[in-house]
Amino acid sequence: MTTHATSSELIREADAHSAHNYHPLPVVVSTAEGAWMTDVEGRRYLDMLAGYSALNFGHRNQRLIDAAKAQLDRVTLTSRAFHHDQFAAFCTELADLCGMEMVLPMNTGAEAVETAVKTARKWGYRVKGVPDGQAKIVVAADNFHGRTTTIISFSTDEEARRDYGPYTPGFEIVPYGDVAAMEAAVDDRTVAVLLEPIQGEAGVLVPPPGYLAEVRRITAQRNVLFIADEIQSGLGRTGRTFACEHEGVVPDMYVLGKALGGGVVPVSAVVSSNAVLGVYRPGEHGSTFGGNPLACAVALEVIAMLRTGEFQRRATELGAHLHRELGALVGGGAVEAVRGRGLWAGVDIAPGHGSGREVSEALMERGVLVKDTHGATIRIAPPLVISKEDLDWGLDQLRAVLGG
Ligand SMILES: *Cc1c(COP(=O)(O)O)cnc(C)c1O
Repeated sequence: MTTHATSSELIREADAHSAHNYHPLPVVVSTAEGAWMTDVEGRRYLDMLAGYSALNFGHRNQRLIDAAKAQLDRVTLTSRAFHHDQFAAFCTELADLCGMEMVLPMNTGAEAVETAVKTARKWGYRVKGVPDGQAKIVVAADNFHGRTTTIISFSTDEEARRDYGPYTPGFEIVPYGDVAAMEAAVDDRTVAVLLEPIQGEAGVLVPPPGYLAEVRRITAQRNVLFIADEIQSGLGRTGRTFACEHEGVVPDMYVLGKALGGGVVPVSAVVSSNAVLGVYRPGEHGSTFGGNPLACAVALEVIAMLRTGEFQRRATELGAHLHRELGALVGGGAVEAVRGRGLWAGVDIAPGHGSGREVSEALMERGVLVKDTHGATIRIAPPLVISKEDLDWGLDQLRAVLGG
């Protein structure tokens, strides 16, 4: 369907009839392909955000669109009341990609995190032997795990939490990257430690070297599940299938989402061992849409694409280039610090050089789309299919905006 309204007309209409829980950049996209989006006036923009890693394979990746179209002509939804012929392969392949045994499919990231929390508690009571109602989950400050009432109960972001109480108990928050604090927080009631191996929303914060390995040691010693929320860091973004791999760490459970749906449909999952996901009995958890045929068909293609290693390789090589170029801006005045791994970077703008929002708007004027976070930081995470030429052009625009 084409529209003849202008961008500003559509923005005004959206503002009048949608809740203002977002503050999007004033661009109205109508089509997209690969790393590029086109707005309703025909202006083109390089997508350097990639839907917070939901678009790791780019917009409308041909393999994923073909898989979706083929499934649209067969069957799209059955509910879990019946089996369907894409489900077994999806679970087998995803478990294998993760080096795990069992999959519990959901739709959005937040639902998968909720599932991880419920699984850890149930495992704690049924397997570990924690007294009923006493289970504790240790999380990190500055986390982002989603928007449900329980998940924001253990957020440290006041904007995300304010006016949503009463909050779900059973969580202890420790500073991210602090091994001693983690060691002190884990006790006999602790059923899980839930962490992002790299904190995306916090500004692409990479923990100190050895941190994840120390968390793995502590959790293994204390019979506590190590849950890695790889919803944003996983599936190629950092140059590996999972960000945990950079530290040689294998958690007890992966929480996946975003790129698992190939930018086509929401697909999320918890992936773990028989000993952990085996705690469920029929009726104890579920989702009408979780593991639907369309989701499974698209995710199966995502898994097949990840198996080639091509996207991890691109993230490694282009990511090294990205970080070399961004690193050269540090100390030049406008950039205070750069963090990240692979095709993923948080860039802190120095005071006096504009807020993250202002830099994002200036980049938009030059045809590059990024997202600010926490005031002074911009997040760069282009689709892994971006060409080196396009990445360099995007970096040229950043340098022009920052006066580097
Ligand atoms: C995006 C994100 C989530 C939440 O995913 P939704 O699909 O938006 O619910 C959870 N954890 C991390 C690390 C994320 O980046």
